[in-house]
Amino acid sequence: MLGLMQDWPLLLHRLIDHAARHHPRREIVTRSVEGPIHRTNWAAIRQRSLRVAQRLARDGIRLGDRVATMAWNTWRHLEAWYGIAGIGAIYHTVNPRLFPEQIAWILNHAESRVMMADLTFVPLLETLAPNLPHIERYILLTDAAHMPASTTLPNAVPYEEWLAEADGDFAWASFDENTAAGLCYTSGTTGEPKGVLYSHRSNVLHGMACCVPDAFGLAARDRVMPVVPMFHANAWSLAFSTPIAGAALVMPGAKLDGASVHQLLEEERVTFTAGVPTVWLMLLQHLEATGARLSTLERVAIGGSACPRAMTQAFQDRYGVQVIHAWGMTEMSPVGTLAGPKPEVAHLTGEAKLDLQERQGAAMFTVDMKITDDEGRELPWDGKTFGRLKVQGPAVARRYYRREEEILDADGYFDTGDVATIDENGYMKITDRSKDVIKSGGEWISSIDLENLAVGHPDVAEAAVIAVPHPKWGERPLLLAVPKPGREPTKEALLDFLRPKIAKWWLPDDVVFVPELPHTATGKLLKTKLREDYRNYKLPG
Ligand code: AMP
Repeated sequence: MLGLMQDWPLLLHRLIDHAARHHPRREIVTRSVEGPIHRTNWAAIRQRSLRVAQRLARDGIRLGDRVATMAWNTWRHLEAWYGIAGIGAIYHTVNPRLFPEQIAWILNHAESRVMMADLTFVPLLETLAPNLPHIERYILLTDAAHMPASTTLPNAVPYEEWLAEADGDFAWASFDENTAAGLCYTSGTTGEPKGVLYSHRSNVLHGMACCVPDAFGLAARDRVMPVVPMFHANAWSLAFSTPIAGAALVMPGAKLDGASVHQLLEEERVTFTAGVPTVWLMLLQHLEATGARLSTLERVAIGGSACPRAMTQAFQDRYGVQVIHAWGMTEMSPVGTLAGPKPEVAHLTGEAKLDLQERQGAAMFTVDMKITDDEGRELPWDGKTFGRLKVQGPAVARRYYRREEEILDADGYFDTGDVATIDENGYMKITDRSKDVIKSGGEWISSIDLENLAVGHPDVAEAAVIAVPHPKWGERPLLLAVPKPGREPTKEALLDFLRPKIAKWWLPDDVVFVPELPHTATGKLLKTKLREDYRNYKLPG
């Protein structure tokens, strides 16, 4: 027997309809890419999203087509997302920090038909455009007055003029709630980047789940600043959870340095913000150097990499801002766990409270998790036993875009590639990583790619690249190399060899020559032992 409730598919346009109708004047403030502060509200964003939808439809964009965005957090990027999804097309966020070759690979794999991009990325896109056969037109997120004098981008138009050709007299399309809405490629795995394809339903459920008090705790009175970019896994739900809550949004645009972030936090009276540790380190350094305060900020969500204990302490003890340590993945929409205090641990203070906050947190609703041994047997939640962290839920990927392989275990759980313990109260702590990647400032570096390049050097017999903890970047790569018999390569020679082959920020911070590397019984590099041996390695500088 079916329930007798209304048929109301969980489509993304519901969120913006809700915000526009019930919180119409709540502000959306942006530090625009062109410079000045721009102000609008949910009612106006909805109106312009409808025009984006109408205009895209007129350009022949249809259900299931991919529309790429390479853009900072701005009101235009926000209304573009809702407009694209509102006709059943798919917003495909492209991370501009990836290598140019990776970006081209991703756009070609997705076969995105349109590129909406900020002015910042025009030079990069101009170099890539000849190799992007699927992109029919470039819509630059600006007005005619700020368009570059000339550009080689095919069919480039200023967004505002393109949008002005639609009057907004348009209705959202209707389709099944499981229809794809968003696409984001992750490079946090080995091999080629993998596309995570979110649905309307998964985004709505995840957005709702993020609002509850022990998650981000968003309310209509909040003024929310996502410092985490929209090209990083849905800006951790904030483009969806803020209209659900009816909260105001403050968008930082292209300026993410400590002084700019602080200025916006203060002038726009932000109460909640979210981002990776590297961003907060820059903010804390700015506060320390200037003696400035945080007069309105109540909560900061920190994730993407482990939040250092000293950072939690500084925010809470020096500035009176509550830290919410969060963990998740692109494949999880992305939020999985957060460390809100359950009654069992609410009495903790001082070091014991910091111990708890060092953990990545407890599962929020829509996420189930377990730890298992290598044979898939579930391990106890005792805070000591560690195993593979696996997750399940309606906003967790079950397959990658245009890839056939199965990514779930026999019980339907996705292996995160993280290794963790879970304590008796359900608080998870990441202890290691089984995937061979390094996270620096919130972005991935492939250790395997670096190793393959390093063994290309004529004097190197074998190489291993491991992550070493770093105070600013979270982790940095360290290259361990075994010289060929009779050869004596130098650190400089090896780094010079790698430099032209990789992005600057991929270059290992140091090289250590070793007589041999440890291996498993099957001959694979024993990375766990290497990471353990070099855990306290002092990188130069
Ligand atoms: P991404 O898909 O780029 O968001 O990366 C997800 C991965 O980042 C996770 O599987 C973890 O390895 C790492 N990660 C995310 N948040 C945290 C955290 N709070 N502490 C430690 N590692 C984290």
